[in-house]
Amino acid sequence: MNNRKVRVRFAPSPTGPLHMGGVRTALFNYLFAKKNNGRFILRIEDTDQTRYVDGAEDYIVESLRWCGIEIDEGIEEGGAYGPYRQSDRKEIYKEFAERLVNSENAYYSFDTAEELEVMREKLKAEKSSVQQYNAITRSNMKNSLTLSEDETNKLLDDGAPFVIRFKMTENEEVIVEDLIRGTVKVNTDQLDDKVLFKSDGMPTYHLANIVDDHLMKISHVIRGEEWLPSLPLHVMLYRAFGWEETMPDFAHLPLLLKPSGKGKLSKRDGDALGFPVFPLEWTDPKTDEVSRGYREDGYFPEAFVNMLALLGWNPGTEKEIISMRELISSFDLYKVHKAGAKFDHEKAKWFNHKYLVGKSDEKLARAYQLILREKGVNVDDSFVIKVVKLIKERANFVFEFWDQSFFLFQAPNEYDQKVVKKRWKENTPGLLSELKEQLEKLETFDHESMEKEIQDFLEGKEIGMGQIMNPFRLTLVGAGIGPGVFEIAELLGKEETLKRLQAGIINIKRE
Ligand code: GLU
Repeated sequence: MNNRKVRVRFAPSPTGPLHMGGVRTALFNYLFAKKNNGRFILRIEDTDQTRYVDGAEDYIVESLRWCGIEIDEGIEEGGAYGPYRQSDRKEIYKEFAERLVNSENAYYSFDTAEELEVMREKLKAEKSSVQQYNAITRSNMKNSLTLSEDETNKLLDDGAPFVIRFKMTENEEVIVEDLIRGTVKVNTDQLDDKVLFKSDGMPTYHLANIVDDHLMKISHVIRGEEWLPSLPLHVMLYRAFGWEETMPDFAHLPLLLKPSGKGKLSKRDGDALGFPVFPLEWTDPKTDEVSRGYREDGYFPEAFVNMLALLGWNPGTEKEIISMRELISSFDLYKVHKAGAKFDHEKAKWFNHKYLVGKSDEKLARAYQLILREKGVNVDDSFVIKVVKLIKERANFVFEFWDQSFFLFQAPNEYDQKVVKKRWKENTPGLLSELKEQLEKLETFDHESMEKEIQDFLEGKEIGMGQIMNPFRLTLVGAGIGPGVFEIAELLGKEETLKRLQAGIINIKRE
């Protein structure tokens, strides 16, 4: 690893919502920066105007904010190496492209789309192994290498459409060390003459990315594995510019895989299997199609971040619940795995559950109150705190609280017939009336006293717990669900419990 001051960048293109794999890339950059007292930079790579999507940049910024990934330098934050949006740096790139032309590392190419197509068809017909614009084919095309200087200048003066292509060296082994993957070796004959600059005045990704990483003094490039094929070209560009000395170190992160482990995790997998692949909900500005997000699905950002951090890396211990601060202190780029990381939706829910139960009852009650108010339920915070305490172990998300506790806010107006059939016997109303008498006698109506009283009562009668507890639950809840029935009764209070018990005795009938 180089000894430079750590400066890393997350460099997304605003072409749509940020995929969770992109968030993980941002997170690993952030963890690495913080671990090494470095800076985390957000650079928006929007040079491909045809793929620009309205709202995507704001979405990226909001996603990082939600995750707690703090930006040190960026569009809003500013910084000494701005601007941080590539379209605002447009003027910079032309000069660098021309520098490469002047040093004979790049050239103008004037081929039309049709001419390029003819070339491709010809190579196809010849069954050529490489069908691209490269060291061999460039000599048959219309470019500043085959035209005279005058002809080239005339075309440029006349405003003929052109691109600037990189002049890839012939038959050279490019060898580069990736911090995660080890040695990457490619022969330049496998590589084509990539377009660096287009006649619309915009650089392509490759040129802008290298120029900006250099100018912004980026020390480490940490990005997704899908960029590994671009690495040899990038190394060649550093060489062509004469920037090898300060070339960043590279680390290509493993892919996020489908739950089956077969192939890259895509939005389609999420749609088919019922989980989000985006951090926040996203509405496509063209089609109005809405894609779900982790935030709107009820995930806590800490849980989402914790889950993502362990996709492709772990601190080497059994510990799984790790705060951002601990992630920072234990993060090690060298320990990131080479193999793709399988996404597991159940595990994501498990993480949320762990963070949920770790939160204070007061905090959870505040979140639950929002849902209760929406449902028209008006109850004191102190009561909701008790409810939350009772049910939180049974939920992965705050929105699940309602299904676990609605009966604490409303008496049943119907009874689950399946449970009635199974649990409501001929002698049940009689037994419950006796139970009611026992409960009426109780002075302290808490679950311990109730349990003791009823146990004594049952022992005296020599009947099993189930015979009375299940129907008792049915009268209070209307169904066979929920936490301990004595706890439910305690929260309902004596009066309400007896009322429901009585209503059940009268109204529950086997159909
Ligand atoms: N703009 C590229 C992207 O969208 C950046 C790749 C890189 O980090 O070099 O992912």
